[in-house]
Amino acid sequence: MRITGVRPWLVKATSSYWGEYLFVEVTTDEGISGWGEITSTTKIANRALAAILKQVSGQIEGEDPSRIERLWHKLFRSFTYMGSRGAACECVSAIDIALWDIRGKVLGLPVYELLGGSVRDEISLYTHPDQSKFTSDAAVVAEITDIVKSGHTALKFDPFPYQGDRERRDGYLDGMLSRADERKAADLTALIRQTAGPQVEILIDAHGRFDVPTAIRLCRTLEEAGQIDWFEEPVPPESYGALQQVREKVNAAISVGERAHTKWDFVPILEQKLADYIMPDVTWTGGITEMKKIAILAEGYYVPISPHDAGGPINVLAGAHVMMTVPNFYRLETSRWDLSGYNELMHTRLDNSSGALKLPRIPGLGIEMNRDYLEANEIKTA
Ligand SMILES: [Mg+2]
Repeated sequence: MRITGVRPWLVKATSSYWGEYLFVEVTTDEGISGWGEITSTTKIANRALAAILKQVSGQIEGEDPSRIERLWHKLFRSFTYMGSRGAACECVSAIDIALWDIRGKVLGLPVYELLGGSVRDEISLYTHPDQSKFTSDAAVVAEITDIVKSGHTALKFDPFPYQGDRERRDGYLDGMLSRADERKAADLTALIRQTAGPQVEILIDAHGRFDVPTAIRLCRTLEEAGQIDWFEEPVPPESYGALQQVREKVNAAISVGERAHTKWDFVPILEQKLADYIMPDVTWTGGITEMKKIAILAEGYYVPISPHDAGGPINVLAGAHVMMTVPNFYRLETSRWDLSGYNELMHTRLDNSSGALKLPRIPGLGIEMNRDYLEANEIKTA
C-alpha cells in the first residue's frame, strides 16, 4: 500500500466555535483513506495550515503508510530551520492521526488496540457550558443545571468578562483586569459552584491572558469564590518563569499545555514541576504518536494528562483512543456537552451519555465522515 496524497478539507459548520473545521484526508492506492483534524482558532491560521498541508503532500506520496514513526520524523525534520513547533507540528499531527486511522482499518482493529490495549472501558469527560447563553443569573443556573442533569461531573469555563471582545479574548495586551471585572468573575464562579453542587469539579480557564501579579490575584480570588479544581494557563505560554512565579503563590492546581508542541515542550514543565495537570491537544502537539509519548513522560512524574479540545469530532476521538491506553489519565475535554452538532459531519454517532465517551470496537478511529456534507460545505482555499 502506498500513500497517494494529503487532502485538506476546510468546511463550514455551525457546531464549530470558529464557524469552520479543518479536517485532513490521507489517501492510498488501495482505496483506504484515513482522517485527521487540525482545526485552529482563527480563519487565517486555518488557511495557512491548509496551504502547508498541500505542500507536504508531495513529501509523503509513494510512502508506505504503515511506517508512521518514520513519516512523523521525515515531516517534522523538514521544518527544522523554519521552526518545528507551531504550524509545522500541527500539520504533522493531522497526518499522523490519519495514518493511525489507516493502520487500524488495514488491521481491522481500533487504534487503541494498537497502542497497548485498553486500561479502561470508557473515557471520563469534562465539558463546557455555552457561555453565549449567560445573559442573566437565571440563564446561568439553567445551563449549569442541564449539564449536571446530563451526567457530566466536571465543567470548565472562562469567567473573565471579555465575551464578545475578540481582541481582549485572543490577545495579550497589558495582561491586567480591573477590580470590577474581577468581582464579576468571582460572582459567576460562586453562582456556578452553588448551582453545580460540591461534587462537581470546576475548572477555570484563564486563556493565558494575564501578567504575573494579575494572575496571582485572580487565582486567589476564585479559590475563595468557588473551590476551583484547576486554574488553566494563568499566564501566556512563552514564559515558564512567569508560570513558576504564579505557581509559587497560589494554592489551586495548575494546568497547562494546549499551546505546547511535542514531548520536548513538556520536559521543562515536568522537570521544573510547573503544573499539576498537563493538557496537550492531539491535533496540535504532534498527533497520536506524540500524545502517547507525552503521556508516558508524564507518567514518570505521576502527573495526570487531560487532552485539550477546541475542535471537532476527530480531535475528541483521537485523544480518546490514546487515553484508553494511558494509566495517568484525568479527563478528556469536549468543547461542548451536547455533541449532536457533529452529526451533520459524519455518519458515526458519539455516545457521551453520563458524561463519559464510549468508543465502539470499530477499526481505526471508528469514524465515517459524511462526504456529501463535506463537499457541499467546503471552503475553497488557494
Ligand atoms: Mg484553554
